[in-house]
Amino acid sequence: MKMIKRRYVLKFPPQSGDKPLSYVLVKEYDIRINILKAEVVPGKRGNLLLELEGTSSNIKNGIKYLEQHQVECSPLDKKITLNMDQCIHCGNCTAVCFAGALTMHPETWQLQFNKDECIVCELCLKACPMNLFEIDFHNGN
Ligand code: SF4
Ligand code: SF4
Repeated sequence: MKMIKRRYVLKFPPQSGDKPLSYVLVKEYDIRINILKAEVVPGKRGNLLLELEGTSSNIKNGIKYLEQHQVECSPLDKKITLNMDQCIHCGNCTAVCFAGALTMHPETWQLQFNKDECIVCELCLKACPMNLFEIDFHNGN
């Protein structure tokens, strides 16, 4: 069976631990899990960016299993673009970017966008008063 890799952003409901669910993915669905990013605050939603490796049908069934357990799963087949030319460097977007992709330069206070850190949570889209962020659906992996 052909093994494939897929990246997903998982949003766990408050109070749910990800460990038992991850265990099921590994044991029941034979999926290898690589955690690329994790943000889990006690009592709040947890967010994980995972790379899953397995057969196409196992990954599909594993995702279905997670969704049945109130985990929101979004494939990372899109990316965020920013029109930096029109940025006024207000910093609003940095306040919502828990992944740390958007930061203000500590000396110049100019916005910096590190695309490699972006987990496509889309929170910056609403945060920007200039509407400078867009979702690009065509250049994902
Ligand atoms: S989508 Fe926006 S807010 Fe979310 S991680 Fe990427 S840059 Fe940050
Ligand atoms: S919210 Fe928009 S205008 Fe403000 S720093 Fe971020 S990208 Fe620039």
